[in-house]
Amino acid sequence: MAQGNLYILSAPSGAGKSSLIAALLKNDTQNSMMVSVSHTTRPPRPGEQNGVHYHFVNVEEFETLIEQDAFLEYAKVFGGNYYGTSLPAIEKNLAAGIDVFLDIDWQGAQQIRQKVPNVKSIFILPPSLQELERRLIGRGQDSAEVIADRMSKAVAEISHYNEYDYVIVNDDFHQALADLVHILRAEKLTLAYQETQNRALIQELLAKQTAL
Ligand code: 5GP
Repeated sequence: MAQGNLYILSAPSGAGKSSLIAALLKNDTQNSMMVSVSHTTRPPRPGEQNGVHYHFVNVEEFETLIEQDAFLEYAKVFGGNYYGTSLPAIEKNLAAGIDVFLDIDWQGAQQIRQKVPNVKSIFILPPSLQELERRLIGRGQDSAEVIADRMSKAVAEISHYNEYDYVIVNDDFHQALADLVHILRAEKLTLAYQETQNRALIQELLAKQTAL
């Protein structure tokens, strides 16, 4: 069986990345995809569950995990909070042929590209900064202060768009989702993936040719 693919998805907050991933997983009737659950020291928002949206830990616990080398990557992202991706679940799922999505920022993406050269990364752009702010206010999860902080960091995050393999502008949600699905499908059609997936077929086809 071919290994699953590892994908990084990055975007400024409010660009719609989480909704796109949620829609992707909802349509995944074959359970062939999963999103990695990160660790964070930021407090849970209303409705967020420990172990589902994040593993919520305190700074001391996070720093112990850093010392234990438990993270594939980690970074301080918002308001001095740590965010990190731990390794074991990712390896297990990739080995089982499941595609794994990392919803992480550009700092984490840079670290992972160093360690996993065949990772594919996708950047989601908002259609405008005004729309980004409108979406952040509309979701009603953050204080005005946090929203101002997220807006000031949005441009810094966007400035890293050109480090990614793919870029999607999330203006129309359904179009953006379709774009994402097409990227994933194209990645399943690369020579490297097909050679692993269709090894027996290719051998059979070539065996016949060499015999002639
Ligand atoms: P939020 O606080 O809105 O859930 O996430 C804030 C930002 O942290 C998002 O851009 C998200 O992609 C990023 N993030 C979430 N988990 C991780 C992680 O494990 N590592 C890194 N580097 N960034 C993360």
